[in-house]
Amino acid sequence: MDLQIQQKVFLISGGAKGIGEAISRCIAEEGGYPVIIDPSVIEGKKLMVEFNTNGIKSLHIAKRLSNPSDAKDAIEQTVKAFGRIDGVVNNAGSNDGVGLENGTPEAFRASVEKNLGHYYDLVHYALPYLKETKGSIVNIGSKTAITGQGNTSGYIAAKGGQLSLTREWAVELLKYGIRVNAVIPAEVMTPLYKNWLETFENPNLKLKEIERKIPFENRMTTAKEIADTVVFLLSNRSSHTTGQHIFVDGGYTHLDRAL
Ligand code: NAP
Repeated sequence: MDLQIQQKVFLISGGAKGIGEAISRCIAEEGGYPVIIDPSVIEGKKLMVEFNTNGIKSLHIAKRLSNPSDAKDAIEQTVKAFGRIDGVVNNAGSNDGVGLENGTPEAFRASVEKNLGHYYDLVHYALPYLKETKGSIVNIGSKTAITGQGNTSGYIAAKGGQLSLTREWAVELLKYGIRVNAVIPAEVMTPLYKNWLETFENPNLKLKEIERKIPFENRMTTAKEIADTVVFLLSNRSSHTTGQHIFVDGGYTHLDRAL
């Protein structure tokens, strides 16, 4: 299947590492132009060089989205470089472990803001350009918004908010022909996931326990498998799919755990 995204421009927050990196790579493989918003200077530059060598235009905006002005600036840089925006992937986030007992009200608010605020900001400032292209938006969520995880209230509240905003924006943007979907990973080996595993006494044992519980093939989902679904949703090949929460997780969230 040709996804027909050649020369189209897509923003990926957190696009230099982990799931975001796989999405940037997948867009480039299909001939699209990735705009990577990520503070990781070395990784972002490396990807740009690699893409440009293969004849794919790209841009690395070395920035951590914190304030609305960061998103505004990223959109302005993108439009200056390419003159158009065809899609936004809200992906950047971190499970920062601010729970009820181990957190504070101030840390909770900061965590929600850190994980949710820039999802709104990026779409808000990209909207005039997405209207022109009838673009597509993909929010990366987390299965923890459905199952809970414990000791991470701020991250979970933000992840739940992302799923609600997916439905809300899908409705608000119907009139512009802009589609909005969420892709929900569960267990994907990335720098973020490795850091989380390291919090256990025996990370290898914990990993094996998790893999055993993943119904399909008893293995982690690869970042590439998440990316393939995201890029399909960005493309017009998914032209009648909007407002959906799509779990790419080997059945981990919904299938019988007793399997
Ligand atoms: P990751 O390995 O930490 O990669 C995320 C990238 O985003 C990093 O380069 C990070 O830079 C960057 N980043 C973080 N905050 C940013 C911000 N505010 N603005 C711009 N860039 C930012 O994470 P991942 O595991 O790929 O996770 C990506 C998304 O998938 C997240 O939304 C996460 O909640 C979701 N998810 C992941 C899993 C999983 O199993 N991995 C499961 C469920 C959901 P720094 O490293 O410098 O912070």
